[in-house]
Amino acid sequence: MQSIPMVLPHDVHNEALVSNVRPTDWQNPEPAPRYNLVVIGAGTAGLVTAAGAAGLGAKVALVERRLLGGDCLNVGCVPSKCIIRSSRVVADLRDANQFGIQVPQGMEVDFPAVMERMRRLRARISAHDSARRFKGLGVDVFLGEGKFSGPDTLEVAGKTLRFKKAVVATGTRPVHPTIDGLAEAGFLTNETVFSLTERSRRLAVIGGGPIGCELAQAFRRLGCEVTLFHNASHILNREDSDAAEIVQQSFLRDGIRLILNCKTKRVEKRNGSKIIHIECGEREDEIAVDEILAGAGRAPNVEGLNLEGVGVKYDKREGIEVNEHLQTTNPRIYAAGDICLKYKFTHTADATARMVIQNALFLGRKKQSALTIPWCTYTDPEIAHVGMYERDAQEKGIAVNTFIRPLNDVDRAIADGEEEGFVKIHVKKGTDKILGATIVARHAGEMLGEITLAIVGNLGLGTLANVIHTYPTQAEAIKQAADAYNRTRLTPFIKGLFTRWLAWRR
Ligand SMILES: Cc1cc2nc3c(=O)[nH]c(=O)nc-3n(C[C@H](O)[C@H](O)[C@H](O)COP(=O)(O)OP(=O)(O)OC[C@H]3O[C@@H](n4cnc5c(N)ncnc54)[C@H](O)[C@@H]3O)c2cc1C
Repeated sequence: MQSIPMVLPHDVHNEALVSNVRPTDWQNPEPAPRYNLVVIGAGTAGLVTAAGAAGLGAKVALVERRLLGGDCLNVGCVPSKCIIRSSRVVADLRDANQFGIQVPQGMEVDFPAVMERMRRLRARISAHDSARRFKGLGVDVFLGEGKFSGPDTLEVAGKTLRFKKAVVATGTRPVHPTIDGLAEAGFLTNETVFSLTERSRRLAVIGGGPIGCELAQAFRRLGCEVTLFHNASHILNREDSDAAEIVQQSFLRDGIRLILNCKTKRVEKRNGSKIIHIECGEREDEIAVDEILAGAGRAPNVEGLNLEGVGVKYDKREGIEVNEHLQTTNPRIYAAGDICLKYKFTHTADATARMVIQNALFLGRKKQSALTIPWCTYTDPEIAHVGMYERDAQEKGIAVNTFIRPLNDVDRAIADGEEEGFVKIHVKKGTDKILGATIVARHAGEMLGEITLAIVGNLGLGTLANVIHTYPTQAEAIKQAADAYNRTRLTPFIKGLFTRWLAWRR
């Protein structure tokens, strides 16, 4: 068996985590003569595929080289959301006087305790992804590196698994930025940052996408001096600029130093600091930090699988090539999750895993293009989005009507002191067909579900206007946007008819 990956620090919580997702005493089973499905990678995509297929009666092998649970549980969604929660407490205490609460001077963040809380909760959540649980579900769990060895065989830890169908769900890893001197100076990624037990006084975050932004804000609120480097004119530049601008202003209020549109030239170590040399147009500057966190994109785990040998096409940057049905260029082999998707989220890994079960095992013809994919960046406030942006509609030549409700007009948001943000909904011009929406709000991710449901269920914005929302809630902003749509249906002609009818009824 491969050496056990390090999960640091050594403490009871990480021991509990490892005992669930990489038990030290794990014995790989004797392989079955042939599997309906061999799944490589036990992140969300692999776990959901394996559990779902086994539940339907398939003989399934699940192969994992590191930790079951993959990125999401171990070094992604779960630990990041735990520390984000702690960081929100800091912001609430900081702003407490706006709510009439005086917090005694000297509020302190106990950074080691924040990280310990994260490890404790992560260990608790890891029970869902445990090797023993999956064994109990009837899945043969193999710990070790999987590699295709023939058209219907995979090798793992000296054993050969024969399959009818296989699924590659090997996910991604952080891209290491190619900045001179960075590797020598040393840097953190999402794979190592959650092992911190001491706070870095000065932290540089490279990358102003969702991962970089979530972590930059969390660590700033937890007491690091954070400098965020992003090579565009504003952070989160895939989102609409009006949405990203709200988050950017919140970052500035938090005291994050933003370095936008500059070139990171090189890094050097000097007097115990890491010096980042930047070039901003004509101007050159240097910024001294103690630690650097790279959140600069994801690279697919395509190496070492012998994909060439089994005719599976891939690209080193984009991942495995799949058709609409998530089938690779080898019809026996499918892919799911981050390894093959443009939208790399836990919920898309889950959704595509379910699709693969049907398509690979039951002659299903489910199409990935039929998926409606929402997402959320868990900054404060959050930005959540589903469907088209206005620019997407423009590119496709679709005319839209847009309805926006600012949160500073919504009673609950005012009462909550959470007025920054909006609900923006695009419909196809002249109809109530919802094409897309962006929500900026403290809990935008929770609010977006209603609009996603409307799109999936083909319910128009007019229907959302008929939904009674409990008062007062921030989600009323959605209804108010829908009411605004309804008002556009009151054309002067119809209003004229109403006026005459009512005059006649007086
Ligand atoms: C910091 C951070 C925060 C995130 N937050 C969110 C969030 O809030 N919401 C959200 O939806 N998404 C979030 N994501 C993204 C989410 O983690 C991924 O989309 C999700 O984990 C993808 O699941 P997956 O199964 O495709 O891949 P992974 O989780 O990467 O799992 C792939 C598994 O395959 C294994 N593997 C690779 N090669 C082999 C091999 N040859 N043999 C055996 N095993 C192999 C790997 O060890 C790994 O365990 C976040 C990501 C990061 C980094």
